[in-house]
Amino acid sequence: MTTDSDTIFGKIIRGEAPAEKVFEDDDLIAIRDINPLAKVHLLVIPKTFIRDISQANESHKELLGKMMLVGAQLARDEGIENGGYRLTFNCGDDAGLLVPHLHLHVIGGQKLGAPA
Ligand code: 5GP
Repeated sequence: MTTDSDTIFGKIIRGEAPAEKVFEDDDLIAIRDINPLAKVHLLVIPKTFIRDISQANESHKELLGKMMLVGAQLARDEGIENGGYRLTFNCGDDAGLLVPHLHLHVIGGQKLGAPA
């Protein structure tokens, strides 16, 4: 499945822009964040275009569950499971959403500050 997303993540999914991929299957890719907020900072991105979590609906339930399970597996693979990590969706300006294509942040590998 490819995406018609007109964002940097759409370009990465289509192979039109580079990224360090850590996971890919028919539904998702996961990449290292270009501007990491912690020692480990990954983004789990659905290939199908959903703008943000507010646009998700019943038909996306399985995909959303898979994103979280893949995020947890990647945390395990990165060796940050025992120390702890955070899975985050940003939505809207107040949360600082920069890229309007749904993505799950996987952040850890060090002590994290309290979420705002
Ligand atoms: P948001 O604030 O939208 O939830 O997070 C978007 C994330 O995408 C940011 O953490 C930002 O560093 C990351 N990002 C933006 N452009 C690129 C890019 O071209 N490549 C990668 N790997 N990450 C990006």
